[in-house]
Amino acid sequence: MHEFSGLNEECGIFGIWGHPEASELTYIALHSLQHRGQEGAGIVASSGDYLFGARGMGLLTSALSKEQLASLKPFPHAIGHVRYATTGGSELSNVQPFLFKSHTGDLGLAQNGNLVNAMNVRRALEDDGAIFQTTSDSEVFAHLLRREKTGNRKSKIKKVLRQLKGAFAFVIMHEDSLTVALDKHGVRPLMLGQKDGAYCVASETCAFTAIGAEYIRDIEAGEVITITDDGIDFDHYTERTSPHMCSMEYIYFARADSEFRNTSTYRIRKELGRALATEMDVEADIVIGVPDSSLAAANGFSEATGIRQEQGLLKNRYVGRTFITPGQEARERAVRMKLSPVRDIVEGKRVIVIDDSIVRGTTSRFIVKALKQAGAEEVHMGVSSPPLKNPCYYGIDVSTHAEIIASRKNPEEIREEIGADSLTYLSVDRMHEVYYGFGSKGQCDACFTGNYPIDIEETILPQEKDLKQKGV
Ligand code: AMP
Ligand code: SF4
Repeated sequence: MHEFSGLNEECGIFGIWGHPEASELTYIALHSLQHRGQEGAGIVASSGDYLFGARGMGLLTSALSKEQLASLKPFPHAIGHVRYATTGGSELSNVQPFLFKSHTGDLGLAQNGNLVNAMNVRRALEDDGAIFQTTSDSEVFAHLLRREKTGNRKSKIKKVLRQLKGAFAFVIMHEDSLTVALDKHGVRPLMLGQKDGAYCVASETCAFTAIGAEYIRDIEAGEVITITDDGIDFDHYTERTSPHMCSMEYIYFARADSEFRNTSTYRIRKELGRALATEMDVEADIVIGVPDSSLAAANGFSEATGIRQEQGLLKNRYVGRTFITPGQEARERAVRMKLSPVRDIVEGKRVIVIDDSIVRGTTSRFIVKALKQAGAEEVHMGVSSPPLKNPCYYGIDVSTHAEIIASRKNPEEIREEIGADSLTYLSVDRMHEVYYGFGSKGQCDACFTGNYPIDIEETILPQEKDLKQKGV
């Protein structure tokens, strides 16, 4: 029996309507979004009369062959997806965009995020005769849409969106339209751009930079945008919105050059590093950031304290994500392969290491040990986010309570476990100040605070429920 993969999918999506190089541009855009998903990739394109798709497993360059890309070339409209899933089915059938065929027309669908009520909706649909081909929660959307009998396409889509709960950014392709929708909490990022007059959408603006498109604006919580040959239509599927953009996108997930509300993630991370400096009172000779995601925070920390920033840790660019490697021993080996200290820089020095987050503690444990072995006199850890204590149910893989070190231990116990001379986390208040300074309209910070903006009752795993009941 297939386990339903409702958890832990974080992805990158892209779509473009009405461009002679739609599929090539989609390919380039997906390449720039590769950090959002490395497990599979695909493109669905429309000729205007029918849809055609190609997808495969692994990194984009191996997922799609030259021949597959060539077959998509004549199509002027395209959507694409890179997938990162860590639980449930890791097979081709789950790689998006999905392509559904029916006598009333084709449907291409790609999603970033997690529906929290997918399991219940799916069961109800199955009991009513629906047969699912994948274990992904996105398929639920297609079934619900197919069952809508009344109204035009847009009103049907809006009705379905109102039935979904959770974090979702959808790109939905019909032969003659591209529809884009963001959930009413706006948890996952979704951006609107334009290339040579053609509208495009992407999870991050780095995709626009990669294809030479202009970044127009962030798509709003609850917004539904329809793009056709006749132009663009802006609408909302609900007025009851409550923006809660994912904090982890700023802290770790998004690429440093990607912009949110015209501010780069780099600048936000730098400011988080500055804020940490006001809370970390440690004397040191150098500050080093864990490459790549923490270099900006280390830079801000260095500017604020006057402590010189050095590249004391190097990252091997040919090692993928260590975080999702199954098994603790394999994860430790992967971190060792990925990061290595520069002895010449750290030997005899009191070092402050800045990392953006500690989840299981594997990375910091290794870093402290490696820097000390390389001759560092003292190693102080600074974390440019608050203690990460809770799992995410909205599409970012931050594991279960049992694996999250800060849900079991206080900072002093964590310091002891990772072997650092001191450990300082950014406070929740300072993190909020940084976000509000950048004009944030509201952030999700549930993995730090436990304040889940969307009810998660339906998605809590049985073992998590046990912990919750025991008050853990
Ligand atoms: P850990 O080694 O388990 O403590 O994980 C922390 C490291 O993984 C940090 O260096 C983070 O930059 C990175 N990280 C944090 N959250 C995630 C995530 N959701 N997916 C992959 N890596 C992450
Ligand atoms: Fe992002 Fe954390 Fe909220 Fe998940 S729980 S959406 S990782 S801020």
